[in-house]
Amino acid sequence: MIVDTGSQILHDPDIDRPRAVTGAIPAGHARRYQRLLVSPLPMVLGCLLAAVLVRHALGTRDLWLFLASVGLFAASLPLFQFHCLDCGRIGWYLRATRHACEAVTGRYRRGEPERTRMSAQTQCLLWIYVMVGGLLVASVFALGRL
Ligand SMILES: [Zn+2]
Repeated sequence: MIVDTGSQILHDPDIDRPRAVTGAIPAGHARRYQRLLVSPLPMVLGCLLAAVLVRHALGTRDLWLFLASVGLFAASLPLFQFHCLDCGRIGWYLRATRHACEAVTGRYRRGEPERTRMSAQTQCLLWIYVMVGGLLVASVFALGRL
């Protein structure tokens, strides 16, 4: 039995991987139609663990542990990720502005009003403020114990 699907391409969003539509949106416009969440926590935790291991390696003069710690630090950097609320894709934050899945391109083509949700850049700035504030509070408490 042959089923005529017309000009539509079969795509099941529950089974198939989300397809990226490249070149459909001019550069710099995609971020206006995205719904992304940004999370640097895995990267921060990896870097903190690497810093603790580097400190321990320097104290014990263990070259292999030091090299492994530097490798862990380098491996932690790509863990600064975004999560698309439309297609569920998780990717590196530096590629977030180029993310244009079907939902994003659909909103762009339909001319839907831009989202009032915080952009990925704004979320990144908020995370930086929260982390710097946390470091300041932690340093105040650490200095209070001296
Ligand atoms: Zn998406």
